[in-house]
Amino acid sequence: MIAKMIRNILWAPWRLEYVTKADKVTGCIFCEKPAQQNDRENLILYRFKTGFVIMNAFPYNNGHLMVVPYRHKPRLSDLTEEELRDLIMATQTCEKVLTEQMHPHGFNIGLNLGRCAGAGIDDHLHIHIVPRWDGDTSFLPVLSATKVLPELLSQTYEKLLIPLQRLMAEGSLGPPERDKD
Ligand SMILES: [Zn+2]
Repeated sequence: MIAKMIRNILWAPWRLEYVTKADKVTGCIFCEKPAQQNDRENLILYRFKTGFVIMNAFPYNNGHLMVVPYRHKPRLSDLTEEELRDLIMATQTCEKVLTEQMHPHGFNIGLNLGRCAGAGIDDHLHIHIVPRWDGDTSFLPVLSATKVLPELLSQTYEKLLIPLQRLMAEGSLGPPERDKD
């Protein structure tokens, strides 16, 4: 629902590559990427005990983040209380860091559960956080999308990385005490 709604509002031509590839991809990127220990290239911004924050490589808008549990589960009812708490706390921190760093006017935040509801990856739950700006229907189309997007993604990654780590460290998803020194 949310994905469909956003798709109707934002013109995101670079998503065509994703949409055309989506049915051919095997495996689960939300399991594979954190296992690779190559966070910068994989656009993983932060890891906490039960999950991680990753940038969407085919974003609906600049700053499109996703909060994902490590466990490969499709539904909220499959998750533990700890996972649910961590996911929503991480989502709150993403909202804060995007607000601080990118000054959006609003957000689309939500879950698509099941392919019929618009989920691209429908068997590993993830929360979308999409910042919105007034008039952002015209955002990015001026760029030659597929060439500029990787550069834009890495700029946004660098912009968010340290502030997100700082905000996470201040909250309940900060690194364990033994890692702070
Ligand atoms: Zn998975």
